[in-house]
Amino acid sequence: MYPMPVCSVGGGDIFDCIQRGNIEQCIELIQNDRSILKQKGWGGFTPLHYAALHGNRPLVDNLLSNGADPNLTSDAGQTSFHFACRQGNIYIMHQMMQHGADLRLVDLQGKTSLHHAVMGGSIVAMHYLWETGMFRYSDPDMYHVSSLHLAASTSNTEVVRYLLRHQRCAVDALDQQGGTALHVAAERGGVEVCWTLLQRTGYRMLHQKNHNGLTPLDLSKQGKTFSPVLLDAALPNSERGGHTAYSSHGGRLRGAALLPAVSLAGQEHLHSVPPYDHLPKVSMVHFALVLGLLCKILTQDSGTLGRAESDPRFSCIADLVEKNEKPQRFCPYCELFQPDHSKHCKLCDVCVADYDHHCLFLNRCIGRGNHRLFLLFLLSMVTAHLLFLATATSYLNGKKAAGRHGASMTWSSWLPFLGAEFWVAVLAVMNALTVFWEAWLLREQFEAVAVGTTTYFRQCETVGRRRSLGQRWAAIFSFLLEGRRGVGRRQAKTDKTAIDI
Ligand SMILES: [Zn+2]
Ligand SMILES: [Zn+2]
Repeated sequence: MYPMPVCSVGGGDIFDCIQRGNIEQCIELIQNDRSILKQKGWGGFTPLHYAALHGNRPLVDNLLSNGADPNLTSDAGQTSFHFACRQGNIYIMHQMMQHGADLRLVDLQGKTSLHHAVMGGSIVAMHYLWETGMFRYSDPDMYHVSSLHLAASTSNTEVVRYLLRHQRCAVDALDQQGGTALHVAAERGGVEVCWTLLQRTGYRMLHQKNHNGLTPLDLSKQGKTFSPVLLDAALPNSERGGHTAYSSHGGRLRGAALLPAVSLAGQEHLHSVPPYDHLPKVSMVHFALVLGLLCKILTQDSGTLGRAESDPRFSCIADLVEKNEKPQRFCPYCELFQPDHSKHCKLCDVCVADYDHHCLFLNRCIGRGNHRLFLLFLLSMVTAHLLFLATATSYLNGKKAAGRHGASMTWSSWLPFLGAEFWVAVLAVMNALTVFWEAWLLREQFEAVAVGTTTYFRQCETVGRRRSLGQRWAAIFSFLLEGRRGVGRRQAKTDKTAIDI
């Protein structure tokens, strides 16, 4: 972004007022003297440039309605609309377009509004401009710098991925220096961007030379800051080590998912201990049920949203603006308009209907498709752990009764007894702690289901909270038996802003 001067030259107090966000004083100054709307301060910026750069929507509205011209240029040939695109506020962009912003104007470097939006990093703003039909992502500026070069220079991986999707930008486009986006990313030390680009092109691009005879590898070695040094270390290793890292991660997750199963399998050595063999038999039958549910939950879709399930109220970003909806409604990764209670999961890289959470143990999202299954799985896990506790207690009691200790065990005789049955005792304690954790999870889940929503959107739900205790339990049983959520949930319109994974 541009450095902001503390004092402006020739612009009077209006620039200071805008920087302080003092809208009332700005309005007063404009009403006293409309000519200040055309005054230029530092860098040739007008008040509208400043307001757009700050993303101050009420002030932009006021300036435009008082006749500010969105096509006035700064010393670098940039209009206030360029600044709005860079700031990424689609409402300000829309307002300027309504007031005659010329989308064809380019700055002195030949950068279009789309280039500025790419530099700002807002995919919604980029998509909004693209929807006007006035821009192509592949268009370069006068130095042959493409949108992909710009995205690589800002190390914005999400924008790079967006530009590579649907062949929006050619990955091997060259700038005036003969450099690709990978050259730019390597020079900047953008490890993640480099990795994203290499996944698309293969390692051949690592050795492609620019007009100075330098490859991306050479550029990454030249870097003096921490990032290029890190990149230099990472690039050669990534060729041989990438898959190993991934599979070990996957293995860890799979290991975590199987942890309860392992603890259940630990019951097998208890089977042969009479006279408590009925509990292990029940446990084994139940274990089969748990395994069945685990297989089902690992294979069932969590509620992935496709383009066809996009919210029908919106067909383009302009619809969002006109209906005054949040820009977050548009998922920049799936490029669809999310219906209520949907969220994009960055780990699964899909939008999920009725999003609840991403389960790290199962390594998948919990949503409309598998939420009921997940609750049944949780209940079955609680049952499994309680069965183990009952079996272990019975076993220890049997051992105690069968041993020399009898009913009159002293503290000193407990120690050798527990030492002999160390693993049973440890597993029993672990299972007991796990039951507490699962009970807490179930409580959270039931509280959300009782008001007809999910744990992620529970804070937004207002209608369901008025339900009585009986209605809440009815909602929980209805959901468990039929998978139906309670009435009234369509009225909860305010989505929580997507913040986490
Ligand atoms: Zn998405
Ligand atoms: Zn997920």
